Amino acid sequence: MKVLVLNSGSSSLKFKIFSQKDLHVLSHGLIEEIGTGHGSYHLVDPSGQLIEGKANIPDHKAALDLMSALLKKHTGLDQLDHLYGIGHRVVHGGESFKKAVLIDEDVLETIKKLIPLAPLHNPANLLGIKIALEHAPNVPQVAVFDTAFHQGMPPHSYLYAIPKDIYEQHGIRRYGFHGTSYSYVTRQAARFLNKDYSSLSCICLHLGNGASCMALKDGECVDTSMGLTPLEGLVMGTRCGDIDPAIIFFLNRTLGMDIDDIDHLLNKKSGLLGLCGESDMRSIAKRFSAGDPDARIAIDLFCYRIKKYIGSYMAVIGRPDCLIFTAGIGENSTLVRQKVCEGLEHMGIRLDKELNEQPKSDKAPAYSISASDSDVHILVVPTDEELEIARQTIKVIGAN
Ligand code: ADP
Repeated sequence: MKVLVLNSGSSSLKFKIFSQKDLHVLSHGLIEEIGTGHGSYHLVDPSGQLIEGKANIPDHKAALDLMSALLKKHTGLDQLDHLYGIGHRVVHGGESFKKAVLIDEDVLETIKKLIPLAPLHNPANLLGIKIALEHAPNVPQVAVFDTAFHQGMPPHSYLYAIPKDIYEQHGIRRYGFHGTSYSYVTRQAARFLNKDYSSLSCICLHLGNGASCMALKDGECVDTSMGLTPLEGLVMGTRCGDIDPAIIFFLNRTLGMDIDDIDHLLNKKSGLLGLCGESDMRSIAKRFSAGDPDARIAIDLFCYRIKKYIGSYMAVIGRPDCLIFTAGIGENSTLVRQKVCEGLEHMGIRLDKELNEQPKSDKAPAYSISASDSDVHILVVPTDEELEIARQTIKVIGAN
């Protein structure tokens, strides 16, 4: 039987089909520009052939109809109701969800109640679930939350030092994101190091367009850099990460920007883009190598912030078993990995420059780039959030 993983965004629907038996990927695809009047889709069929096209996709229901028709034609899945299960990515699970759950009316209601904490993501995730339930009412469906992995953090990590009733009444606290990725790569790392997960300590760097880091001690997340929203923490493609909150007052009072302008500035116009005019690390790295001063400061700041987090997390968890690099930048940028590790030798983190430069193998589930005398293993672990969602979906359905 087959398991479908759905990631429903505000204007896109990403899907992947796995065989339930061995979690082999059978097909995957993406439907984009939903509701914009110029919709497009692509699907990679089980033989690896790419099928793409344009279509009128007015809403998410039309997107799911299209996906269902594509899967029928190209993968032989005659209807969604014949699936083993459907796993949905849900961005915010608040304090209500500490792990993936089987979706029922109560779960839907709780995800809806959490919309104020993730106004851009949870409504689209919820819509995807509701339409999938209409299409496949007899198939068990599971919600897998980005925040769940971090729910074991202690209060001194997750609380902000603001009046406590704001937390108690409105849930304003740090939640953390990228949890599905962390769950996947830390398990891969434990397997690679031949270590029991419950004794694994590591610092994990998920560096993509969104970037965060996470400290794991004895198999439990103890801290992470993203907060109430994915804006806090590291410098990202277009997000500022940590700033003095008083900057917001200045932008409002002195520059006359309203709250939506400031939201847009800090989420969409800042980070690498704000520092050097673009957010794609590939081209910033090329400019860096050519001596471009804006690219230099952007990458310096990006890596410096990561270093500070590694230092602070080592103060909290002690010397970790490993430092993990993952996601687009973490898996591919030899420059960023080198600059992050430079100067950390006194903390037992020693990079092997040649291993760091070796081309990435898509087949390796994890590989080491640390020097033989490094006290901390430095690992590159390619992430696979959809596979993790499929795994958790099968596990939850099995347990129910
Ligand atoms: P998202 O958060 O959107 O899932 P990804 O994990 O795909 O992002 O990461 C995107 C980032 O990875 C971009 O900044 C991109 O430039 C960077 N990246 C991808 N390949 C390389 C590469 N070969 N070298 C440097 N950076 C890369």
